[in-house]
Amino acid sequence: MKSNWLGNIPFQHKHFVQPENENQLAELVFKANQQGEKIRVVGAGHSWSPACSSRDYLINLDKLSGIKVMNSSQHSASVGAGSRLKDLNHAFWGKGYAFKNLGSIAEQSIAGAISTGTHGSGIAFGGLSSSVSGLKLVDGQGNTHHFTRESHPETFNAFPVSLGTLGIFTEVSLEVSPAYYLREVRKPMDFDEAMEQLPELMQSCDHFKLWWFPYNKKVQTYSIQRSFEKPAVKNAFNLLREDSAFAQGFFAWLLQLGNFRPFVPFINRFITGVQFKNETNVGRSFEVFNMVMPPRHHESEYALPIEKTVEACKALRDLIHLKKHPVNFITELRFVKGDEHWLSPAYGRDVCFLGGYMAGESGWMAFLKDYENLMLSFSGRPHWGKEFTLGLQQFPLSYPRWEDFKVLRKQFDPNGVFSNDWTDALFG
Ligand SMILES: Cc1cc2nc3c(=O)[nH]c(=O)nc-3n(C[C@H](O)[C@H](O)[C@H](O)COP(=O)(O)OP(=O)(O)OC[C@H]3O[C@@H](n4cnc5c(N)ncnc54)[C@H](O)[C@@H]3O)c2cc1C
Repeated sequence: MKSNWLGNIPFQHKHFVQPENENQLAELVFKANQQGEKIRVVGAGHSWSPACSSRDYLINLDKLSGIKVMNSSQHSASVGAGSRLKDLNHAFWGKGYAFKNLGSIAEQSIAGAISTGTHGSGIAFGGLSSSVSGLKLVDGQGNTHHFTRESHPETFNAFPVSLGTLGIFTEVSLEVSPAYYLREVRKPMDFDEAMEQLPELMQSCDHFKLWWFPYNKKVQTYSIQRSFEKPAVKNAFNLLREDSAFAQGFFAWLLQLGNFRPFVPFINRFITGVQFKNETNVGRSFEVFNMVMPPRHHESEYALPIEKTVEACKALRDLIHLKKHPVNFITELRFVKGDEHWLSPAYGRDVCFLGGYMAGESGWMAFLKDYENLMLSFSGRPHWGKEFTLGLQQFPLSYPRWEDFKVLRKQFDPNGVFSNDWTDALFG
């Protein structure tokens, strides 16, 4: 693996290792610890942040994947930590189960996804980590541990979202739902109308989300409800528009055009015209949650207290217009139920996630700086897997269990084997 998905973070490790089993992994960590070498683990490399950069070892657990145990009476599954979500989607469905909630893509590994607090949308649904009921891990000295919510009630909540700094997960136990379908109703609305109705809209269905190009007055609302309705066969036009390489290539090309600032409002209007439509889509849960892989682009995303949603959306629109930031990609608004995981951006409060996305380099850093300042003014916390520029001064204040996490880190990785420049900037 040479870099992360976007290619903005080149990987420059000396050794790339894919252990065959937990014992091999534990021996490797033991040896690295003795020799003062550093290790980072990479799942699918789909984080924008430098979370996986390592100067010595980069470890990948693709060989530790698949369902280990499926417990039907408890609606739970234990899976290898390297399992990709896309493979689990099909494996669970085959056994009559599904993830409780999912984000937009399924390329990620389960361990990588939970480690950064990956989420979908739904005011009554937590991020992926909130389904985690147990973890097996190798600590920074090569010792193995098995934690469950019940066995370690005091500290369990530190582990699911731990950025690969407390240990390397080898197995993840998850609560799952009986397999379900989703009925998605897409509806374009005026921005002002959507803002007025937002408090009701976010409560109106299981998984509400909103897309919007800031230079356009129209937004696309997605109202997604659990359903027992079987999906209809898609017509050829929809398949071409949504799923084909042609459609993706065309979309990517349009976004590249958007690198020329004068084109941005025009491109935004054009894509809005083509994509933002009244439409209903029914499918297996993962088919509706997950989208076609988007073209490569930058992303930052902050979790804000839910009561700030409308104010923050309007302020972001005004900022983009005032500073003429060339935002040529959708802006996304999603909702996540609060949880108890110490480093989760949704720790202790229900949140809206408001994204700042852009394709191409031109104007990105200037936008990111303004966007982050705005999100901080609303007490935002960044998504760990996306781009942010905050350092260690900012976090202790916004995470009440930050210092407790650091104490646990000393215990589980006393010599900082799992550290890199990024974790040093976060934890000191
Ligand atoms: C196109 C695209 C769409 C996305 N959509 C969403 C979305 O809808 N919602 C959302 O919230 N996020 C989204 N993301 C972000 C993504 O879900 C996160 O960055 C996620 O962490 C990536 O998973 P990964 O397997 O690639 O992990 P990596 O990026 O490889 O690693 C992430 C972190 O996990 C750690 N890690 C990996 N494996 C282990 C292990 N076995 N034990 C301990 N630590 C480990 C790594 O060290 C690192 O700190 C998206 C990303 C892309 C590129």
